[in-house]
Amino acid sequence: MPPAACPQKADVVIIGGGIIGVSTAWFLAKQGVDVVLCEKGHIAGEQSSRNWGWVRCQGRDRRELPMMIESMNIWRGLEVEIGEDVGFNQGGCLYMARNEKELGKYAGWLATARDFGLDTQVIEGKELDQHVSGASSRWLGAMYTASDARAEPHKAVSALARAAIRSGATLLTSCAVRGVETQGGRLSAVVTEHGSIQTSTALCAAGAWTSMFCRSLGIAVPQLQVRGTVARTSPADVILNGNVFDKRLGIRRRQDGGYTIAHGSILDHFITPSTFRFSLKFMPVLLHEMRALRISIGRPFFEELGTPAKWALDEESPFERTRVLNPEPNPQVLKKIRKNLDELFPQLAGTRIVEAWAGMVETTPDVVPVMCEHESIPGFHIATGLSGHGFGIGPGAGKALAGMLTGTDVGIDMSPFRLSRFFDGSPIRLESMI
Ligand SMILES: Cc1cc2nc3c(=O)[nH]c(=O)nc-3n(C[C@H](O)[C@H](O)[C@H](O)COP(=O)(O)OP(=O)(O)OC[C@H]3O[C@@H](n4cnc5c(N)ncnc54)[C@H](O)[C@@H]3O)c2cc1C
Repeated sequence: MPPAACPQKADVVIIGGGIIGVSTAWFLAKQGVDVVLCEKGHIAGEQSSRNWGWVRCQGRDRRELPMMIESMNIWRGLEVEIGEDVGFNQGGCLYMARNEKELGKYAGWLATARDFGLDTQVIEGKELDQHVSGASSRWLGAMYTASDARAEPHKAVSALARAAIRSGATLLTSCAVRGVETQGGRLSAVVTEHGSIQTSTALCAAGAWTSMFCRSLGIAVPQLQVRGTVARTSPADVILNGNVFDKRLGIRRRQDGGYTIAHGSILDHFITPSTFRFSLKFMPVLLHEMRALRISIGRPFFEELGTPAKWALDEESPFERTRVLNPEPNPQVLKKIRKNLDELFPQLAGTRIVEAWAGMVETTPDVVPVMCEHESIPGFHIATGLSGHGFGIGPGAGKALAGMLTGTDVGIDMSPFRLSRFFDGSPIRLESMI
């Protein structure tokens, strides 16, 4: 539903109603900040409702861990604080290893876990069976973090949105932001399809659209998009209670008694002009994820080619033309998911797959987010590139971003997330997967 009225001014305007925008709005509103969030479609219509629902510290890049640890603290108390069910469950997280090489790679991460005080360990043999029924016959061991968790994406973000509204935030849906205005070089307004909102502070948390939005302002944000295909089963026997990752299958128990399942290492990348624009910066991640990426060229290339880099703010923008980015799940990947589920978990062989969907993950050249103000437009901030790990870190990011926007120190170092690292000659350091 388009908003009945668009506020004329706000302390902060947030562009994008995924978990990052919504969590930031919630933290700002709790501090008494007058915040308006504009979402072109509906709340969590894109990545934030389409993800696997894993909330994990395990295997993360060191630069993300302080924010993720804070996020886990927030998740733990979230249901009590907002008075709503988000399906949070600390069922643990396991990365399964088939051989010594894989186990050795996981054991290498234990030093990081120790540095950050995490309860990660390597388990082997019969101990595996305590977490995944029958696992010791198929896997040698696993990296295991008992305190890792899951939540239900379709519940969590809308519950956070309601909490933000109760705290005083204004959330506008069917309200695309077309661009911004400046006065004396500083941000002065955010222009939506329903009118302008005067403000000195904005946060662009537009997920897969961030690069396009920023490009229209003359800001280059290197962003690569990959499609992930996901499915869910009907309710079935409890054979595991946590999140389990094998190269062939990612699986977690759902609150409704089924399982959310996906291929552990297939991502589709559709070549577009943006692929070439940032190809050198993405070379390390493309090489690192070479085996996982299925690269193709087709309609998305020509769609992007036909999209203008800039548009008039009083005319329909590309954001209104695609209210919700809703990619088709890949049927070939779905077949592999079914096959791998049956082979790895024969106990679930008869279980029906009742729904399949896909989402566009967006990532940066080092698979670590960008969260900063942009020096070319003081007052304009960016939060994007959360990769395949933005759901879990969402509440922590929201707290940190609210601190950044209000100039409050919340104890999280934001310097690793500056956009300029991709342009000032800093080496591109890869520590984790998309
Ligand atoms: C298949 C898949 C599996 C994943 N699994 C996990 C997982 O298990 N654990 C985990 O932690 N993370 C996971 N992720 C990643 C996680 O979902 C994302 O990192 C996170 O949701 C990103 O949140 P966001 O708010 O930045 O972006 P989004 O959720 O994409 O939200 C951005 C919003 O901005 C809106 N928008 C864009 N442009 C405009 C505009 N101009 N005006 C107004 N609104 C606009 C869009 O409509 C969209 O709703 C997964 C992602 C996918 C796709």
